[in-house]
Amino acid sequence: MSRKAGKLVVGNWKLHGSLAGNEALLGDLLASPVLSAPGVTAAVCVPFPYLAQCQARLSGQVLGFGAQDVSAHVNGAFTGEVAAQMIAEFGAKFVIVGHSERRAYHGETDASVAAKTLRVLDAGMTPIVCIGETLAEREAGETTAVVTRQLETVLAALTLEQAAKIVVAYEPVWAIGTGKTATSAQAQEVHAHLRSLLRAKGEAVVDVAVLYGGSVKPDNAAELFSMADVDGGLIGGAALKAADFLAICEAGLSR
Ligand code: PEP
Repeated sequence: MSRKAGKLVVGNWKLHGSLAGNEALLGDLLASPVLSAPGVTAAVCVPFPYLAQCQARLSGQVLGFGAQDVSAHVNGAFTGEVAAQMIAEFGAKFVIVGHSERRAYHGETDASVAAKTLRVLDAGMTPIVCIGETLAEREAGETTAVVTRQLETVLAALTLEQAAKIVVAYEPVWAIGTGKTATSAQAQEVHAHLRSLLRAKGEAVVDVAVLYGGSVKPDNAAELFSMADVDGGLIGGAALKAADFLAICEAGLSR
């Protein structure tokens, strides 16, 4: 998905929500004029059981929605898995793949993330491919090597046309849910490197949106979004409060 459309702000609800709570949160988000302003696109990625609620509540609205994971398989004997085509049937536009919590707790590898990315594209949705280094990797000076390996494994599995349709989210693992944010300079340095990898894949891919994620809050969003290669944010904790999520979207408007 191209960065030329403006900033993209995506909420990752993780393992949070209830039918009543979601109804209130989505209602508050839709009531705001911020989401209709040109220059920012917003979406929420919800637990699978809430896709039907999002379909009912968000069809035809300015707020998009999606899922947080997908099966690497199309169908078959894979108990508990959810296929991309099933998610697409609900009108979802986005699927997060390779979130660091999936990599850490569910054994996801660069190869499985690449397979999931393909399933999402085949189903006509936009994969938000998450990459990022751990604290130990950053301290060992391995940040560039890690994010290069993670992104290049996915890019190698895609045609140019497919690669132009993805979104990348740089999420340093040490900044997720910790309240520690990468400085805007740290984020820009990695994003500029990711942009060079996208350019190396082909000119058609250079404008793929690269989001930053990791403790983005209303008070640091504007600074992060002002960086040349930061095209929006993937928002965890702050996406659960309408006022905070909207303030982050608003910070994207003027950048
Ligand atoms: C995330 O879950 O992708 C995330 C960035 O979380 P948080 O904003 O809470 O750090």
